[in-house]
Amino acid sequence: MTTRASRQWSRRRFLSGAMATSAFATISTGAGMPREAEARDLDELQRGTQDLPAAVQDRIGARLRLMRVALAQEPADLVITDGTMLDTITGELLPGWGVAIAGERIAAVGDVARHIGPKTTRISARGLTLVPGFVDAHYHCESSRLSARRHAEVTLPQGLTAYFEGTHEITNAARGLPGVEYFVQAGRRLPQKIYPCVSSATPPSPVETTSGHIGYREVALAFERWPEEARGIDEVMDLPRVLDGSARLHGVIQATLDDRRVVAGHGSPPLDVLDGWIAAGVMSSHSARIAEAITMLRKGVHLQLKTERSGDMIRQFLELPLRDWRNVGLAVDDRTAADLLDRGGMDYEIRSAIALGIPPITAYQMGTINNAAHWQVAHLHGVLAPGRYADIVIVSDFDKVVVDRVFANGRLVAANGQLTGPLDASPIHPALRNTVRLSRELRGSDFEIPAPPNRSEVRAYVLPLRQGHEHRLFLLGARVRRRRHRLDGPSRPP
Ligand SMILES: [Zn+2]
Ligand SMILES: [Zn+2]
Repeated sequence: MTTRASRQWSRRRFLSGAMATSAFATISTGAGMPREAEARDLDELQRGTQDLPAAVQDRIGARLRLMRVALAQEPADLVITDGTMLDTITGELLPGWGVAIAGERIAAVGDVARHIGPKTTRISARGLTLVPGFVDAHYHCESSRLSARRHAEVTLPQGLTAYFEGTHEITNAARGLPGVEYFVQAGRRLPQKIYPCVSSATPPSPVETTSGHIGYREVALAFERWPEEARGIDEVMDLPRVLDGSARLHGVIQATLDDRRVVAGHGSPPLDVLDGWIAAGVMSSHSARIAEAITMLRKGVHLQLKTERSGDMIRQFLELPLRDWRNVGLAVDDRTAADLLDRGGMDYEIRSAIALGIPPITAYQMGTINNAAHWQVAHLHGVLAPGRYADIVIVSDFDKVVVDRVFANGRLVAANGQLTGPLDASPIHPALRNTVRLSRELRGSDFEIPAPPNRSEVRAYVLPLRQGHEHRLFLLGARVRRRRHRLDGPSRPP
């Protein structure tokens, strides 16, 4: 339903114009509308929208067609039958429930035989389970070192049909909103939905001057430009600046709250300041520690678990027992392309959550509806129900999360781990090129490590290439080649 053309249109610009018209006044009083509308048939109603922008007419037309298919007045484009459907709202596995699809959306679920016409494509899921496309609540595509398209080639066959991209890395490299725009444009060309969250950490600290500035105005501008994709801001991670009332950071949070969007957080504030952190507007964390996790959950924070670090926390929740997992989701956060290929992405997280003892249906909810609900997109993602995107994963082994086929926007996009066709690349904004800027050329001496006097050997900490989100310092022995000035003691590993 959401065509590329329809996204050109600005809801806000239209509403600000409509405010002055009598049409808006009529709607706002509510007088006469429902009865008049009742009297018209659907085609007439559609003709009555001709004064609306073309993109709005397109969207109304697509929605009315979806409704007709849902009512079995028109045949579906595609139906998937004979399988078992996971209902992520009720937590039930429903044998015999199928899905009927019109265009990009789900028209109906349940017994979908009446939606089959002569031209409807039929797919049998006999012996298989239908689950919603996976939704990652906190992710950095950049950590894969792949472009958005190449990354989609790896992760779509794993069932990842939507992710919330924390843009603070690309945004600092691109000096601001071009980093967000890259992911908006990429997502519009891909069947994988990308929701770039505006960076809350540009610049990452007040002493950094090369990475641009995102404050209240820039965040508000991003929401104005990309209202569908930019659903909030990414990980608020600077706890001291939350608590000391930093003007830039609180401007970013205010712009998000003013627009009724989501303020994602990072970290695990000590319990004595936790209420302040939450009251300041922060709504989630993907890096809670076990000492604070259950209290954070009790106080309304949405937790996104990374399973390889959350074993003890999951055991704590299971022993409690935590009766309502709605506010617990899963996140990959950072993963290299090699690691994605070896282990998997969100499919791996759901599989690991099950292996750690979480009931399988709950684990699927954590990788779908729980994340979608946190980001206020449960009307689009996370559940197989009418009106949602037809993003469907068919699994052959439910508990082991073995992905058989992946549908996105109502089309088969991957089968047996392979894409079914090429994906569209997005143009690279000039601000994303040549982002390493040096004030002068580097010399060999810039990399010399000065040794203490009268030593032929030293031990030095070395920061290797980053793997995932780990910063590990390695202590290496090294021979002193040339004596330099004295070095103060090496810093401790973090
Ligand atoms: Zn983080
Ligand atoms: Zn992150």
